[in-house]
Amino acid sequence: MDILDRLNRSQTEAVTATEGYIRVIAGAGSGKTRALSHRFAFLVNEIGILPGNILCVTFTNKSANEMRQRIHNLTGDNDTGYINTFHGFCVSVLQEESYAVQYPKSFLVLDNSDIDSMLKIIYEERGLTLRNMTFSSARDMIEIRKLYKEPEYYQDMITMSIDQIYEKYMQATETSEIIFYGYLYQEKKCFGLDYNDLIKFTLYIFENNEEIKQKWQKRLEYIMIDEFQDIDDLQYRLMCVLCGYHKNLFIVGDPDQTIYTWRGANVKYLLDFHRNFPDVQTIMMMENYRSTPEILRAANSLISKNLLRMKKNLIPTLPSGGSVLCCHGENQEKEALWMAEQIKILKEKGVPYKDITILYRAHYLTRSIEQVFLKEEIPYTIYSGVQFFGRMEIKDALSYLRMIAYRDDLSFLRIANVPKRNLGERRMKFIQEYAGENSCSLYEALCRNLDQDIFKGTKAGEFVQLIESFAANYQDRPVSEILSAVLDLSGYERMLRTEGNQERLDNLAELKQSVYEYETTCGEEAMLEHYLAHVALFSNSDAQPEHDKVKLMTVHTSKGLEFPYVFLCGMNEGIFPSRKTKTREGMEEERRLAFVAMTRAKKRLYLSEAKGRNLDGSPRYPSRFILDIDQNLLEYDRKPEEGLIKEAREYIELSSRCLLTDEAPSHYPIGQKILHKIFGPGTIVDVDTEKSAYAILFDGMETPRTISFRVKLEKM
Ligand code: ATP
Ligand code: MG
Repeated sequence: MDILDRLNRSQTEAVTATEGYIRVIAGAGSGKTRALSHRFAFLVNEIGILPGNILCVTFTNKSANEMRQRIHNLTGDNDTGYINTFHGFCVSVLQEESYAVQYPKSFLVLDNSDIDSMLKIIYEERGLTLRNMTFSSARDMIEIRKLYKEPEYYQDMITMSIDQIYEKYMQATETSEIIFYGYLYQEKKCFGLDYNDLIKFTLYIFENNEEIKQKWQKRLEYIMIDEFQDIDDLQYRLMCVLCGYHKNLFIVGDPDQTIYTWRGANVKYLLDFHRNFPDVQTIMMMENYRSTPEILRAANSLISKNLLRMKKNLIPTLPSGGSVLCCHGENQEKEALWMAEQIKILKEKGVPYKDITILYRAHYLTRSIEQVFLKEEIPYTIYSGVQFFGRMEIKDALSYLRMIAYRDDLSFLRIANVPKRNLGERRMKFIQEYAGENSCSLYEALCRNLDQDIFKGTKAGEFVQLIESFAANYQDRPVSEILSAVLDLSGYERMLRTEGNQERLDNLAELKQSVYEYETTCGEEAMLEHYLAHVALFSNSDAQPEHDKVKLMTVHTSKGLEFPYVFLCGMNEGIFPSRKTKTREGMEEERRLAFVAMTRAKKRLYLSEAKGRNLDGSPRYPSRFILDIDQNLLEYDRKPEEGLIKEAREYIELSSRCLLTDEAPSHYPIGQKILHKIFGPGTIVDVDTEKSAYAILFDGMETPRTISFRVKLEKM
């Protein structure tokens, strides 16, 4: 297959302009991601660059997998180079360089549930309760301190010894200090790194070790980044370091699809790219290859209502399809019933369920949909919420693998007594005390005490034997084989079978399948440690198996993806736009989010909303995003009555006037250093749009203060 086949002129230009700084700015569905993957193939197949010398950054693991598959198909090569998210790439760097910060190659990547297990230990040790701080605020607090307290963070985490950290933890008296140092201690003890550490450690190593930095700069001859409109400060810094030697950087993005500003993304990096780098070549792409003209006209009509934007329209290339179909439900259940009805019509026409996707602004909207779908027997799968890698049996299975490679405490606590080995609370306590007194791991503590009376009549010996027999030779075995064997020999699968737990067994089968796929696309990297490090990145995200089921996901998750039939539901004021939207910029971001949702559809788009009451008793109006669209472009199956539309327009007019303006300080992101006229300098550690206030940690104060948006703060 010729790589330049089925590419238009601008795409061909983007693919063949290999040297220097290239920026593609183009609309949704215009073939940016396709240009990027073909460029990869062009570099490899036509120019002869080795895949290992190319870095290709995607925004989600899901798109990284898809890209790997595409590149594999295009090049026929198993070695697909560095195709990954920023986090995934950092794992690869750290696996090679972690010794530079005295971490072993086999460091552990921690996901949210690992962090929660550590918090649990800390809370128990120091007598804290959730009333002192919830786990999710604790996680946020830790994140903020790590991200914005440079260089203290590096000093604490990288240069301090574990004993020093422990001492700081023990001496701490204030809740967030206790939690923060307790967490650092737990992390360091098992050589764990959370997602934030991955980027920060990598940056630290590059910024402090010239030799390593140059090695990676030289290795990465070509760098390509997708979804550049949502890059954040740290990722940008990392990118600048990486392209510093060969200076070949290719970025693609669409300013109309910036939807992560709330998490620190900054579209200025895309818009100002030509100011920050020399001789930038900018390529624009206008034609859309994804959606019907009907969908595009509606999407254009919506996004044109944003004032702070570069004007551009998506130009259709596909033939006409069905109209954009709208429905107003009497209540949420009726809205869901309407979707079910339309899905059945599609099904009768031969459309498989998996071609249908339901998008919504927030998770809680799935409840009414799920209830109706269960009743109507429409199979569905949720791409967020309790995710595949977060399920109990999957975590257990991975803990067995982790035990084999690392023998870490977290995994030990999870599976030592699953299935039951008679290692109940009393014996666990013994192990924990011994480990504490002798500064060793829990597993080590068990091994040393196997012949103590307390372990008589337990299966502790068998457990140790199991782990040791795998640990002895795992390096030479494929991961899929280790997994199957350990699930069998540990008695784990037998336990599920006895419980008659078919669903969990199915999930394990799915896991085995995914390991197998990992091995076939990863070639030489398919070692147990590599697998474990990479799989940890999935656990907070969206990887899910494909079946013939309707997909349900949030709009954020759908970024960069496309689906034949899209239902965008819950299009009501207070839901979408979210009631938390308090500023004009925030409202424009919501509108971009609605735009992203609409432009996911290929063949037909359905919009729906329902009458009802908000929590405060006020009536629920149709979303301004439906009313923004030229009404001639929409077909109504059931239309809201004129009176309701009129009221809605009045409400929207009024609430728009209440939005804070550009100059309002609500602009400042978390991490911004500011100056307060009385308290002096401080750092914003949280933004609460609901209360219209910041949490600010002022220099010299122990705890943050809540400060209203009304007060003038100067940027520092
Ligand atoms: P988004 O902004 O949503 O990420 P995108 O610009 O990355 O979109 P792609 O996902 O690359 O767009 O492409 C959208 C669809 O159009 C895909 O199905 C792709 O295969 C198809 N496509 C891209 N370029 C062409 C082309 N030149 N000819 C025909 N089809 C194309
Ligand atoms: Mg894309």
